[in-house]
Amino acid sequence: AAEEGFDPEDVEGAIEAAGHGPLPVLAVVGRPNVGKSTLVNRIIGRREAVVEDKPGVTRDRVTYEAEWSGRRFKVVDTGGWEQDVLGIDASVAAQAEYAIEAADAVVFVVDAKVGATDTDEAVVRLLRKAGKPVVLAANKVDGQSGESDAAYLWSLGLGEPHPISALHGRGTGDMLDAVLEALPEAPEQTFGTAVGGPRRIALIGRPNVGKSSLLNKVANEERVVVNELAGTTRDPVDELIELGGVTWKFVDTAGIRKRVHLQQGADYYASLRTAAAVEKAEVAVILIDASENISVQDQRIVTMAVDAGRAIVLAYNKWDTLDEERRYYLEREIETELGQVAWAPRVNVSARTGRHMEKLVPAIETALAGWETRVPTGRLNAFLGELVAAHPHPIRGGKQPRILFGTQAGTKPPRFVLFASGFIEAGYRRFIERRLREEFGFEGTPIHISVRVRE
Ligand code: GDP
Ligand code: GDP
Repeated sequence: AAEEGFDPEDVEGAIEAAGHGPLPVLAVVGRPNVGKSTLVNRIIGRREAVVEDKPGVTRDRVTYEAEWSGRRFKVVDTGGWEQDVLGIDASVAAQAEYAIEAADAVVFVVDAKVGATDTDEAVVRLLRKAGKPVVLAANKVDGQSGESDAAYLWSLGLGEPHPISALHGRGTGDMLDAVLEALPEAPEQTFGTAVGGPRRIALIGRPNVGKSSLLNKVANEERVVVNELAGTTRDPVDELIELGGVTWKFVDTAGIRKRVHLQQGADYYASLRTAAAVEKAEVAVILIDASENISVQDQRIVTMAVDAGRAIVLAYNKWDTLDEERRYYLEREIETELGQVAWAPRVNVSARTGRHMEKLVPAIETALAGWETRVPTGRLNAFLGELVAAHPHPIRGGKQPRILFGTQAGTKPPRFVLFASGFIEAGYRRFIERRLREEFGFEGTPIHISVRVRE
C-alpha cells in the first residue's frame, strides 16, 4: 500500500539506477593542445566546467562522470597539466602512463591538422605496452575537407581513426559509440578479475605525510609475498603484503616508492596518481601528517576518496613528534576540517617507531565491513517507519512530505533509494543519513541516498 502512486516500473528503474556498481574508467590522453579538455567538456556535456589551462594553475579534479546512450562511465582528463620540466616527450608520456594505468579504455587524441608527431608515436608505444582498448580520435576535423587528414592516422597502427571536431561536436557521437564498445560493463581492474582475490588498499596522502615510510614499515616487518602482477611486463605497481595473517594488495606502490619530483605540475601529478590508486582500490588508507595543520590538500584527497565511494581509514602519522599542545589543536582541526568523514575509523600511527601499526588492519577490516553492509528491506522499512513517525518532515506549503518506503539498491558503498510523497529537504536527508549510521553502523564508508518523489 505504501507503494501506491508509484509506477512499479519506475520503482524498479530507480533501484537499478541507484544500484550501479563502480563505473568503468575512460582516460583521454594526447599531446598538449590537441583538444583533450575540449573533448572532455563535450563528453561530460559541460555539466561540470573544466577549468581553462594556464601554466602554473593546477587542477585537483581529474575525474568526471559521463553518460552516453544510457551507459555511465568516468572520464580521466589529463589536459590540466603544463609540461616543461621534463621536456614534452617525457611529460606527455608520464602523464599518459598514469592515466592509462587507471583506465579501462583510452581515447587517444591526435591533432589531424598536424598529423602524427614523434611524441604521438611515443604515446602509441605506451598504449601498446599497456594493452588497454584504444579509440583513436583524429581531432580538429571541423568539416568534410579535413577527413583526408584523419585517414593518414591509420599509419599509427591503432586501427580506424575517428574524425571528430571536439569543438563543434562533429563525429563525436560515432566516436563515443566506439568508446562504449571498448569499455567493459564493469571496471576490469576493480571488480572484474579480482573478485575473491586479496583486498585492495590505496595508501594515499599528500607528499611527505609518510606514505613510503609506512609502506616500507609494513612491508619490511611482514613478508612481501609477491611484487609483480603475473603475466605483465610492466613495472610492478601492486604489492602483496601479508598483515595480520591476511594478504592484502597495496595498489600503485610504484608511484609511492619512486616518487617523481617535479616543480611545476607536481600537484597535478600527485592528484592523477591518487585518483588512479583510488579507482583501483576498495579501501583508501588516507595518511595525514599529524604534526602539521590539516590542509586543503588533505581535504581534497579525502573528498576524492569519498566521491569515488571507497571505504576509508584515516591514519594520523608522525604521532611520535606530537606534544600535548599539538595534540589539543589537532583534535580541534579534525572536528572542523574533517567533519565530513567523522564516520571513518581512525588510527594514530608512527611509521618511524611502528606505533600502533597493529591497529591498521582492524581499522581496514571495519571500514570494509561497513562498505559491504546490506540492510534487509524489511528492517530498513521498520526503521524508516519509526523514524518518520517520531520525526516527521517539516510542513511545507501546507503539505507534509513523507518517506513512504525505501530499499538498499547496492553495496560497496551502500546505496539507498527512498520513495517520498513530496520534496525532501537537504537537512532532513542529512538527518536520515545520521540516523541510518546510528542504527546500522556503516563505519568507514560513504553512503549514498537518492530520493524519488511521487509525481
Ligand atoms: P588540450 O591541451 O589537449 O587539453 O587542448 P584544449 O582542449 O585546451 O584545446 C587546445 C586548443 O585547440 C583550443 O584553442 C581549442 O579551442 C582548440 N580545439 C580543440 N578542439 C578543436 C576542434 O575540434 N577544432 C578546432 N578547430 N579547434 C579545436
Ligand atoms: P611520502 O612523500 O608520503 O611518501 O613521505 P615519506 O615516507 O617520504 O616521508 C616524508 C618524511 O617524513 C621523511 O623524512 C620521513 O622520514 C618522515 N616521516 C615519515 N613517517 C614519520 C613518522 O612517523 N615520524 C616522523 N618523525 N617522521 C616521519
